[in-house]
Amino acid sequence: MTPTIYRARVVDTPDDPFTGGVLRSADDAGLAVTDGVITARGDFAAVRVDHPEAEVVDLRGGVLLPGLVDTHVHYPQVRAIGALGMPLLEWLERCALPEELRLESVDYAREVAAEFVFGLVSAGTTTSLVFGSHFAPAVDALFTEAARVGVRVTSGLVVSDRGLPEPLLTTPERAYEESIALAGRWHGAGRARYAVTPRFSFSTADEMLDACASVTKDVAGTWFTTHVNENTAEVAEVARLFVGALHYVDTYDRHGLVGERSVLAHNVHASDQELAVLAGRGASVAHCPTSNSALGSGLFPLRRHVEHGVGVALGSDVGAGTGFSLFKEGLQAYFMQSLLGSEGLPLTPAHLLHLATRAGALALGLGDLVGDLSVGKQFDAVWVRPLDDDPLDVGLRHAASAEDAVGKIFALGGDSDLAGVWVGGDRIKG
Ligand SMILES: [Zn+2]
Repeated sequence: MTPTIYRARVVDTPDDPFTGGVLRSADDAGLAVTDGVITARGDFAAVRVDHPEAEVVDLRGGVLLPGLVDTHVHYPQVRAIGALGMPLLEWLERCALPEELRLESVDYAREVAAEFVFGLVSAGTTTSLVFGSHFAPAVDALFTEAARVGVRVTSGLVVSDRGLPEPLLTTPERAYEESIALAGRWHGAGRARYAVTPRFSFSTADEMLDACASVTKDVAGTWFTTHVNENTAEVAEVARLFVGALHYVDTYDRHGLVGERSVLAHNVHASDQELAVLAGRGASVAHCPTSNSALGSGLFPLRRHVEHGVGVALGSDVGAGTGFSLFKEGLQAYFMQSLLGSEGLPLTPAHLLHLATRAGALALGLGDLVGDLSVGKQFDAVWVRPLDDDPLDVGLRHAASAEDAVGKIFALGGDSDLAGVWVGGDRIKG
């Protein structure tokens, strides 16, 4: 098959900046892509000589980045974005859960699924770990739409058996059966994978967590995702509900649910014991900066996560988060670490790009497939190409270095600056 050569200024982070890696940047690179896979990378002129028959896609005049990876985003909450002024439990009751109830209607769910996937694509999110719906047909609608558009989605049925409005509750038996059916249909189908998803310990008793563990045992390679340590009132209630548990993380861990294929969202109020357990199990944490800020949940202890060796990536946490853009999440993460003073971890543009791309790929076990633009990886990419004379365009033209350019993208970049988005070589935007 004839390759396509993408000619661009390419910036990515194959080497982890948290352990000394630096940005990789090439001002006039050529990426040869065949069947969606990057087969050669080098100076454009050299790649061109090696592939005289290739079609060239000229992406000069901007920056080409790896596709963005969102490790925590709620599909049913697109229409709940922007409700400000409440802490977590009040926000759930007044904003999020009423919207989640509406997905009982599969017609409604299909509309929301289309809006949701469009939101991902618009923001350049090519891979995501998605909190699904409490209703199995609505989860099916999400997978169907994601497959139609072509984004990489790991998702599943959200399960709960207490503490939520009655229509959102289920039984462990039904949760198991519906999860197995959805996983059978979608896990490993195209770009889809299944994630076992108890909403949080607050709304799941031990019997439900056992049912979740059964699904992870009975379907090989499923992912596990949930919430942990988001808000102090939530943490206190979980401690009251689980008398025998060592801590919040243990409410999952003692069911065997915490491992290398686990991503726990938030972990703002983590103890050192919990960080040690997460590190020991190889689990990752989804840090959701705008959500933590909007709900007043707290300032994420990134330094302690890194020091314990817990993998951290970014999540938009739509709809408590204020939009789909991982540039905005990266910038907010930077703000929060600045505000933490000596307890914070000062973040550079390289850290932000890594958190928004390769760190997410690693958290999702997709590090060999996506997350940077190396030979052998899928061509999942976003082309940042603002309008001429837009402040970001001015900034990119005058950037002193690749580091400087990436800082400007995180400070100024938005959905409208993404002129192209590709997944596996398929152009899905622009
Ligand atoms: Zn969430």
